[in-house]
Amino acid sequence: MQNFATKTEFKGNYIDGRWQPAHFGDRRQVYNPATGDLIGEVAESSVSDAREAIAAAKKSFYQTREWRDSDTQARADMIYKIAEKVNENREELAYLDTIDNGKPLREAQGDVDDAYHCFLYYAGLIKAPSGGSYGVNDGFGKMHSYMVHEPVGVCAQIVPWNYPLLMGVWKLAPALAAGNSVVFKPSEITPLSTVRLFDIFDEVGLPAGTANLVIGTGERVGAELARSQDVDMITFTGSTTVGRSIMRSAADNVKKIGLELGGKSPNIIFSDADFEGAIEWAMLGIFLNQGEICSAGSRIIIEESLKNKFVLKLKERAEALTIGNGLDNPDMGPLVSRHQMRRVLEYIQIGKDEGAKLVCGGYQLTNTPYDLGNFIAPTIFDDCTSSMKIVKEEIFGPVVTIQTFRNEQEAIKLANDTQYGLAGAVFTKDGAKALRVIKEIRAGITWINCYNPTFNEAPWGGYKMSGIGRELGEDGLLEYQETKQININLNPGPVGWYIH
Ligand code: NAD
Repeated sequence: MQNFATKTEFKGNYIDGRWQPAHFGDRRQVYNPATGDLIGEVAESSVSDAREAIAAAKKSFYQTREWRDSDTQARADMIYKIAEKVNENREELAYLDTIDNGKPLREAQGDVDDAYHCFLYYAGLIKAPSGGSYGVNDGFGKMHSYMVHEPVGVCAQIVPWNYPLLMGVWKLAPALAAGNSVVFKPSEITPLSTVRLFDIFDEVGLPAGTANLVIGTGERVGAELARSQDVDMITFTGSTTVGRSIMRSAADNVKKIGLELGGKSPNIIFSDADFEGAIEWAMLGIFLNQGEICSAGSRIIIEESLKNKFVLKLKERAEALTIGNGLDNPDMGPLVSRHQMRRVLEYIQIGKDEGAKLVCGGYQLTNTPYDLGNFIAPTIFDDCTSSMKIVKEEIFGPVVTIQTFRNEQEAIKLANDTQYGLAGAVFTKDGAKALRVIKEIRAGITWINCYNPTFNEAPWGGYKMSGIGRELGEDGLLEYQETKQININLNPGPVGWYIH
């Protein structure tokens, strides 16, 4: 691995094409969750910083219009340049996400590769045919109707800490490709790779005011973005609780809205599944990224006859996982913060109190060097029921629950017994059964005989309380576009009908 500075340079917010400190000069310290080391300082912004960023985006979209009016080839070329720079700086961006979020370095490198391809995808997609033309009723003379897409305007975007770079790029790439101006707020606890990304925007010469970065808390900066009358659209990835409050604020000026929220996703395993494959994917489903994944397969729902054998093997595999500093490429890194670790430990205690059977894990690693960070052992709870809090609520850590079923209908019922609807998977060698069950799962992202693969081409998003709208794919671009119908009378002159 290359050597990078152990502490990043302070840059501040990026507003109207300039780096600047927060208005009141406040700064926030950023710490490595594996070691507790100080790794950087960023702006701690206030409402007035958010307002300045919104004003810059508004001026760029409605007055200077440089980005909005540029042709799609020019926008695509600029986004290709951004993609190339992301790729050139792969190791640094991955390093920043690992020291900031804790995830294993190889996972962070995978995130940067996905971010690179996401920019490439939307640079290409904006050049693809879009819109449409219709043959219409010509009762008013010869009429022609066609449809075009236009950018929405000022888009505010708020993301969480679990995929600091990638969750941002899923929003920034389509919004910029569509010609919008953006105000972006990363999670205040994992902002470092985003600061570097905005450096790249600056280096490639994105017009001033097109993309603005404000770093600060959700209560101050995020809430202002959600309520501002000058924001035309708000897209948010994060918890369902905050998503609800954003939806309420957005109602004031009827902003367009996109919400990617929490999940509690079922992973259904039938006894005729490929055993080793099901184990492997179940491990990935829950322990990838320390379980801090919205789509995590956190509820294993398994056919009764296979349960004992499966749980035994899963325990063996979970206990063999290596845990450590993400830079050393263990299987699992630390949780992102003390706060998140305590939250997960509280849920583990609740699980024990509710009478679930602790199969393995369930504790914080406290011996040296783990005592410096936020490490939790991979945890499996057996004998769980749908009424338990650990089965109902999103834990967002390396904790999985096991429930059993006796037939297909029972499996579907258990899987859908949740307020969420983000993801789900089915494991079986019976193709017809797999399709029957997956069609019944009320969730937006589903897998058969695998868990978690994600593609830039495929729309991502949830049913029920997991969200509104889709990211990625063509749908992800459409979210950042208004649709306009243009109806033309090809036979100008009086109609001679309905006029008194
Ligand atoms: P969070 O909701 O606490 O915070 C997310 C972002 O919202 C942060 O930037 C935060 O500063 C901001 N925020 C907080 N309060 C706000 C407010 N009142 N107004 C506006 N913004 C506010 O979530 P988190 O703890 O950072 O992330 C974990 C959650 O994110 C989990 O629920 C997870 O499922 C969800 N998530 C969903 C997806 C998806 O694609 N559906 C992807 C990743 C994470």
